[in-house]
Amino acid sequence: MADPIAALVPNIRTFQVFPDVPDPLEPLLEMAKNLWWVWNPDAAELFRRLDHLLWEEVHHNPVKLLGAIEQQRLLHRSTDEGYLAQMRRVYAAFREHVETKGWFAEAHPDKANLKIAYFSAEFGIHESLPIYSGGLGILAGDHLKSASELGMPLIGVGLLYRNGYFQQYLSADGWQQEAYPELDFYNLAIEQCFLPDKSPVRVRVDLPDNAVFCHVWKASVGRISLYLMDTNLPENSPADRDITARLYGSGNELRIKQEIVLGIGGVRALSAMGIAPTVFHMNEGHSAFLALERIRVLLENSAMSFDQARQFVMATNVFTTHTPVPAGIDFFSPEVMLKYFRPMIPQLKLDDEGFLALGREDVGNKKQGFSMALLAIRLADHMNGVSELHGDVSRRMWHNVWPQVPPPEVPIKHVTNGIHVRSWLSSDIAFTLDRYMPEGWLKRPADFSTWDNVSQVPDEEIWRAHERGREKLVAWARQTLKAQLAKRGASYEDLTVAEQVLDPEALTFGFARRFATYKRGTLLFREPERLKKLLEDNKRPIQFVFAGKAHPADHEGKELIKAIVHFARESGARRRIVFIENYDMSVARYLVQGVDVWLNTPRRPYEASGTSGMKAAANGVLNCSILDGWWVEGYSADLGWAIGRGEDYSDPNYQDHVESQALYDLLEKEIIPTFYNRTVNNIPRDWIGRMKNCMRKLAPVFNTNRMVKEYADKFYMPADTRGAALSANGMARAAGLAQTKDLLRGKWPGIRVVGVHTSGNGHFRVGESMQVEAMIDMPGLSPKDVQVQLYCGRINARGEIEDPAPLVMQHTKTVANDRHVYVGKFDCRVSGRQGFAVRILPGESDLASPFEPGLILWN
Ligand SMILES: *Cc1c(COP(=O)(O)O)cnc(C)c1O
Repeated sequence: MADPIAALVPNIRTFQVFPDVPDPLEPLLEMAKNLWWVWNPDAAELFRRLDHLLWEEVHHNPVKLLGAIEQQRLLHRSTDEGYLAQMRRVYAAFREHVETKGWFAEAHPDKANLKIAYFSAEFGIHESLPIYSGGLGILAGDHLKSASELGMPLIGVGLLYRNGYFQQYLSADGWQQEAYPELDFYNLAIEQCFLPDKSPVRVRVDLPDNAVFCHVWKASVGRISLYLMDTNLPENSPADRDITARLYGSGNELRIKQEIVLGIGGVRALSAMGIAPTVFHMNEGHSAFLALERIRVLLENSAMSFDQARQFVMATNVFTTHTPVPAGIDFFSPEVMLKYFRPMIPQLKLDDEGFLALGREDVGNKKQGFSMALLAIRLADHMNGVSELHGDVSRRMWHNVWPQVPPPEVPIKHVTNGIHVRSWLSSDIAFTLDRYMPEGWLKRPADFSTWDNVSQVPDEEIWRAHERGREKLVAWARQTLKAQLAKRGASYEDLTVAEQVLDPEALTFGFARRFATYKRGTLLFREPERLKKLLEDNKRPIQFVFAGKAHPADHEGKELIKAIVHFARESGARRRIVFIENYDMSVARYLVQGVDVWLNTPRRPYEASGTSGMKAAANGVLNCSILDGWWVEGYSADLGWAIGRGEDYSDPNYQDHVESQALYDLLEKEIIPTFYNRTVNNIPRDWIGRMKNCMRKLAPVFNTNRMVKEYADKFYMPADTRGAALSANGMARAAGLAQTKDLLRGKWPGIRVVGVHTSGNGHFRVGESMQVEAMIDMPGLSPKDVQVQLYCGRINARGEIEDPAPLVMQHTKTVANDRHVYVGKFDCRVSGRQGFAVRILPGESDLASPFEPGLILWN
């Protein structure tokens, strides 16, 4: 649609107005522009103190606050010595953070060249920059914050959505409505990127019919820069200007355009700014086109083949998958892929089929769509799921990419997610712990020894801090609910009810997450009578706070929200069950810091990790959850509750039945009695014991400082090292590796195991060993090209080898040109039925893993 004003007034000259901040307060302007303040409550408090009502009104956005505040207030503070002293303290801490290098440079001086580019379609850093929808984005935001604390040489790349993710409000009937207010970039903590010659950074990506130009903006997250792509430029067509309008725009072609801007545009933007990362991290498959662009750039003016360039690019790509279900993955049809990549395919030195095969599970099936996750898998040597269980699920889910490889050996690892502790810890709890914890404890959240001191905090003190969180939650919920109702035009009577919802002393449950059906937001309501009985118990009152958005197109998800609203209304539990609209990071903080129990009821194994329960745990909020995602690793009986024992079900209805019963049992027999079992001073000692265990054992593990370090150790540093080796001397080793793979692929079908002989008669005693000799023909290959293994272990009831421990067999002689003898010795350590197989794998070489090419010969 033509813009009527633009048509009338074609030449608008723009200028920018800056807040008039008195000199002594200048540091506030600088701090407002760096998101460091979001995890430093003292800094946030500086802004809030300027005008606490306006602070709420601008949704905790200090840039906007400073632009809108009354000049009189600023003048007043500029002579307030108390305020200025606090500001100088905070400012000194801020400068200290951004001016020093941090842990990584000290710990790894040999890695001075490492530079990681972390690509994600969403980043959840703070509610004032709403370019995230849920867990994936929050994780990316927390990744950047921890990277800043650790001083990682990392930058982020994402999209700057003009309308952000939608804001949710409910109709009187409880039906979700969506609004997309427009963000004002000039009042956000971002700034546009310019080149040294003062011209804006501008990159071009090509779509089928035209080019699209993008500008780049930068958000500073402590020491870390986050670059955000924006297509809202006058020279783009109205449709192209909208590519970056909304997070996860609807429609397949809009999706592919967004992913082209992110992956291809993102790589070009970095290059335009002279940034040359050595490692690229794809947070989910949305950004996987970056791998194609990297290969294309390498092939420009080069005689290399696609496979040669690919070896190097793979070696330096990391891919993190977040979904345990194929339905969660972006797919594009072959037609759409060819339409959008027509010019790039020859530049990659591929033909159409070779190109499409990169995104197909079955490379021979021409009907199969193009999967972004498969593209990432095929173009990354480093892959991981986001919890131990999800690693397992991912290896099975992607097993078909390596059909010959047993699932446990599929080269996908796991790095369990975490949270950025300082962003999620309540200041009441932090203040209380501060008196008992070692110096600088919050800067070392991954350190067990720091959290051990939690046991020294007196029960009364920790309980008091926790109760303050609940009181704040209740006060805020009443206010929020009232505002929600007023907006909807509710009656005076209803508004009065809102003022009285919830009880600041009652056992409070929180349930907040996206209303995707697998999260089973209504499992709790499966047996209404049983729940009602608990809700009606006035001696031991319980209450629930719900929040969460459903995807705009997810009708079923919206039904779940409506069902909760209706249950609360019809069961007379309006004061005990509330639904807070517009779940975002601000709502999340109130909840994870204010409830007593965090409830999580996903259908296992659909929750890849989940992170909200970790936020709760750091605050001493006890988790009650299905054994799925991170909780499989985190749960123990002394710090929370498990619904069920991690069973898998084939009948979802039966599963819901069993698990809802288990949940009611826990509520009735464990959770409510423990909470109301009070000793002197009205203190629940057992409960507090669990709270402390929760902080002591979970906080040091499930945080992003530990997670980012793990990414560095497992992936970033090895990828950087291997990338340097493969690229040296004009990519000599990358080319060699591609050749080795070609050779192996060509000769593999000729390999034959011609005989296997074992010592003994098939009966051994523990302590004895069995010798295996294998004679193998491998025309055209030499012993260094392969490794021969004994794959042995106990045989289970299904006749399979269980917990196999592969042993390398030694090459002992060459009997004819292509015939070789290998010998291995198996030590019988335990009694019982055992078995073995001989298998042949690619040998020692520059391969990331012997399993990566998918070549295995079993005998
Ligand atoms: C933490 C968080 C999430 C992710 O929580 P899950 O446990 O993974 O569902 C989603 N949305 C918001 C606003 C959050 O703060």
